[in-house]
Amino acid sequence: MSLSFEYDLFVIGAGSGGVRASRMSARAGARVGIAESTFLGGTCVNVGCVPKKLFVYGAQFAEEFDDAAGFGWLVGARQFDWATLRDNKTKEIERLNGVYQNLLVNAGVKIHRGVARLLDAHTIEMEGQRMTADNILIATGSSPYAPSFPGDEHTITSTDVFYLPNFPRHAIIVGGGYIAVEFAGIFNGLGVESHLLYRGPLFLRGFDESVRGFVKDELERKGIHLHFNTEIASIEVNSGRKRVHFKDGQSLESDLVLQATGRRPNTSGLGLDAAGVHLGDRGEVVVDEFFRTSVPNIYAIGDVIDRMQLTPVAIAEGMCIAHNLFGSGPKRSLDYRDIPTAVFCQPNIGTVGLTEAQAAAKGPISVFETSFRAMKHTLSGRGERTFMKLIVRKADDRVVGAHMVGPEAGEIIQGLAVAIKAGATKAQFDATVGIHPTAAEEFVTMREATR
Ligand code: NDP
Repeated sequence: MSLSFEYDLFVIGAGSGGVRASRMSARAGARVGIAESTFLGGTCVNVGCVPKKLFVYGAQFAEEFDDAAGFGWLVGARQFDWATLRDNKTKEIERLNGVYQNLLVNAGVKIHRGVARLLDAHTIEMEGQRMTADNILIATGSSPYAPSFPGDEHTITSTDVFYLPNFPRHAIIVGGGYIAVEFAGIFNGLGVESHLLYRGPLFLRGFDESVRGFVKDELERKGIHLHFNTEIASIEVNSGRKRVHFKDGQSLESDLVLQATGRRPNTSGLGLDAAGVHLGDRGEVVVDEFFRTSVPNIYAIGDVIDRMQLTPVAIAEGMCIAHNLFGSGPKRSLDYRDIPTAVFCQPNIGTVGLTEAQAAAKGPISVFETSFRAMKHTLSGRGERTFMKLIVRKADDRVVGAHMVGPEAGEIIQGLAVAIKAGATKAQFDATVGIHPTAAEEFVTMREATR
């Protein structure tokens, strides 16, 4: 730490990664400043994971009300009020903004509100003021990317969807990744006629093939309209309704068009050029294994480095930064293998490790698969099915991938991720006694390889 600078570490961006890096660094005794131009907590807390999950809970009630009948409950008239869900969600987000502020203040981090820009490798300018720092961390996250076409001004992105003034009756969601699939489920659950448009033959590219096919069937069973190999050509608006023309000549009328077509790193206006920080082909800040940019005292983590756009990944990267700059012992990096993830569509997808195709490309494997109707639905009458899959490497019997589509798949896969990270074998899965009756017990009772 050099006293010739005002700060030992200056962090630009108070999202998941930036907040964790700054708190941990301040706790280790560093003088830390953090800049935020919008809200504390970043995308995840404000316009991402947290409000999305609250909406997912809201959307699930419709099925719960229906399912209750088979268990003897008479559920009376129901009505969904968007303003209540939206505004209760906003109150909770404001509470979390306060929690984040307290976390930073209590750790001794100095918060600067406004837009920060680098003048050189050690100087930051904010609102006409200059500050100096020994180390600088870029943790500015990402923003929605949306393709352009005539009438695209009539579309919204995931940043807008959390604050809709009016709730749609009909929605078109463009994209085939996490956000599109999750919002198709949210809108559908909340009673909106929902159409998902994806440019390729099957959505959820990168996920296990069996999972992709299974989710397609389940979403269709729930009444979501899936349009694959479909792209928007243009949108025209007549008396409030949007006429959405597809490239194949067909069209649909809708109240809302949500473009969920990926997120791009936030790097513009930061003065990265002035400081000499290099960007890669996707506009990401290029870093080495210890998150160091092309400038030795400038680091970057989270969505802006575009490795895995996931909050827990940004947090883990932030922990590495604090340790490497102000901790003791060998430098830490992040192992990106076996990072579990969930898509909160209905039913959820939970996944960890390799897909079948990835594992097969590395050598001989056995695949264990099962699909079944969950016990709850024997009385509810719902047709929803659950899917589970384990991929085992033949060479050493290690379970290298676990995939699930079903209720609470995220919760279940989180536990399995520990076993897989620890290198558990199929024999150890088999030796584990199940919890009965659960869906999760299937993961330790699949004995016959499917292929
Ligand atoms: P994704 O990268 O997951 O998916 C983007 C989708 O948009 C893909 O289906 C892609 O198609 C499609 N697309 C990209 N460009 C175009 C285009 N020009 N025209 C038409 N379609 C296009 O991005 P999301 O926006 O869904 O989410 C961003 C990131 O946020 C995710 O990658 C994820 O890491 C994170 N996230 C995580 C969540 C979670 O953990 N539950 C929830 C939400 C987001 P193609 O496949 O053909 O390229």
